Amino acid sequence: MGKIICIANQKGGVGKTTLTANIGAALTLEGKTVLLVDLDAQCSLTMSFGYDPNNFDNSIVTVLDNPSKVGQAIFETDVENLSILPASTMLITVDSNLISKRDRYERLKKALDKVKPLFDYILIDCSPALSTITINALVVADYILTPAETKIASHFSLDAFVSTIETMKAVRNPNLQSLGVVATMYNCQANEDKEVLASIQTNNVLLGVIKRTTAVSSAVKKGLPCVLVNRRTVVAQEFRTITNKIIEKVEG
Ligand code: ADP
Ligand code: MG
Repeated sequence: MGKIICIANQKGGVGKTTLTANIGAALTLEGKTVLLVDLDAQCSLTMSFGYDPNNFDNSIVTVLDNPSKVGQAIFETDVENLSILPASTMLITVDSNLISKRDRYERLKKALDKVKPLFDYILIDCSPALSTITINALVVADYILTPAETKIASHFSLDAFVSTIETMKAVRNPNLQSLGVVATMYNCQANEDKEVLASIQTNNVLLGVIKRTTAVSSAVKKGLPCVLVNRRTVVAQEFRTITNKIIEKVEG
């Protein structure tokens, strides 16, 4: 039975999508079958594998509208053992439509429960908001993984986010376990980054540190994650080390 990990932080631009794509790809390199769920109207995860979100008849919007259609929205990518449930820019309209539905927080759970046996891991890339849609991810997830940028402006919101998750756990999903924090876009030359990293480490379980490097951003332009196209880089190795730690925590 697949384990569901949601990758979330209420701040945008902190490396959520990059982490989801790279850990997803790295899990396939460890022989795991993986489904990536794009739960952000910006569709960055779908696009980071080279797909145009406008080309799909069915997407996460279809699924949130009718969870029984989940099988129609998932497709296999060219990466072996990696499937995607794509997002759509129309996802922006879904939150207000869900408000009137009694099962508004359980829609994604109803869908993913059907496909959970087909994958070893399901990773959900969340949007930077604690919307009804994001709560759907927290309700269905077994684990939460939090990327945190090593900048004071981003760090400011991390503690608030972590305590919001604790409240969410108590109210909506007592089984949700935290895998820890991955420091992202780390610049080892900058004092700001060093100080924020030290503070993250003091208050959280730190799974790894991803440096700011063009190996990550240039891979996106090639339509594949860094761990697949820039395999020999230090950062790709770090993504794979983090992935192995996740496997150990989940399966060990
Ligand atoms: P989020 O999903 O939290 O909004 P992204 O993963 O999309 O964040 O990252 C924001 C931007 O930063 C993207 O353009 C991405 O390519 C770039 N980026 C992410 N991680 C790194 C890194 N380690 N080094 C350099 N650029 C990065
Ligand atoms: Mg994103």
